[in-house]
Amino acid sequence: MPDAACPDRWSGLVGQPVAAIDTPALVVDLDAMERNLQRMAAFCQARGLRLRPHAKMHKCAELARLQMAHGAVGVCVQKTGEALALAAQGVSDIYISNEVVDPAKLTRLAMAVRAGRTRFAIAVDSTLGIQRLAEALARAGVDTPMDVFVEIDVGQGRCGVPPGPAAVALAQAIQAEPLLRFAGLQAYHGRAQHERSAAARQTRITAAAQAVATTRDSLQAAGITVPLVTGAGSGTFVHEAASGLWGELQPGSYLFMDADYAANTPDTDAPRFEHALFVKTQVVSRQAERAVVDAGHKSHAIDSGLPQVWHPAGLGFGNGGDEHGVLHGSPLPALGETVWLIPGHCDPTVNLHNVLVGARGGLQTGTVECLLRVDARGATG
Ligand code: PLP
Ligand code: MN
Repeated sequence: MPDAACPDRWSGLVGQPVAAIDTPALVVDLDAMERNLQRMAAFCQARGLRLRPHAKMHKCAELARLQMAHGAVGVCVQKTGEALALAAQGVSDIYISNEVVDPAKLTRLAMAVRAGRTRFAIAVDSTLGIQRLAEALARAGVDTPMDVFVEIDVGQGRCGVPPGPAAVALAQAIQAEPLLRFAGLQAYHGRAQHERSAAARQTRITAAAQAVATTRDSLQAAGITVPLVTGAGSGTFVHEAASGLWGELQPGSYLFMDADYAANTPDTDAPRFEHALFVKTQVVSRQAERAVVDAGHKSHAIDSGLPQVWHPAGLGFGNGGDEHGVLHGSPLPALGETVWLIPGHCDPTVNLHNVLVGARGGLQTGTVECLLRVDARGATG
């Protein structure tokens, strides 16, 4: 808890100029974020598609609620811990778009289902997962069926059974469990998101759509209707939307737009998203040929490349280790100057921070409007 004798870095910050945020800090440009929020919501609404944004990206209940207030039917998460953290903060509709087979995790989930304050759904790709989920729900005393999606591998080669008969067997296994309801198919192609060319992304999603159609036909032949196909990310959602097969889209990164996504050649008919997530950093050492800032791997993820320097423009960022970045270029900023970075990958960057500082009115002249807690930070299980 902040105390007056020794205030923490966040106390008193709301209402201050952006210049008062000390570094390194993760700052959200709320104006840009809200434009992103509205563009995706409008895209889905115009096509009659459900939007269920992926909250693994921001892990923040307040942002999940904001997305739901702007038309999202709920959110996705990847981990049981994320689901429970967001549910505890009042997010009312949560889909775990991932496999969980650990009985301890399923028990925690089942107890939250039983509490009845949140609507949960989950994906499966095994009979063991189905059986353990059903057992956990029964043990917890749940009495209404939970929605379960069968994940099919649509080309990524990660989770999911092959399209066709294997998915039918799982749907039948779900239907045989009184506490489970077959809610449809989870069909997400992660690698397609980051294909640089629009044509390459389209090719992958065309193949994914074929896998979905094959599976739907197999299910129909077995007398099983597919209530919903859910999937898609910020790189490909226009293609899933155009296919007529997906009824629900799960993009996450569109809200903050990282440097990696900005490197994709845009689809001609896709809404444009703006950078809304920045690392605010400061020059802490200045030599003749370099300026060193206080942001390293502990401020931003580097799995999708180093951050880009947003302001001042024209500078390059070199890896300086855990706590440093080495700027090259000219003119180099002076000692003490602020430097704004765009992270390469937003999801793992957010997971390094407890707080997102929400700013309005621009990064140079704006004001701190709110502090957004990263509620599910570190929810790895
Ligand atoms: N759906 C699933 C199952 C995912 O794993 C992801 C991200 O990895 C997404 C949706 C959202 O993707 P993005 O943040 O790239 O929009
Ligand atoms: Mn990501």
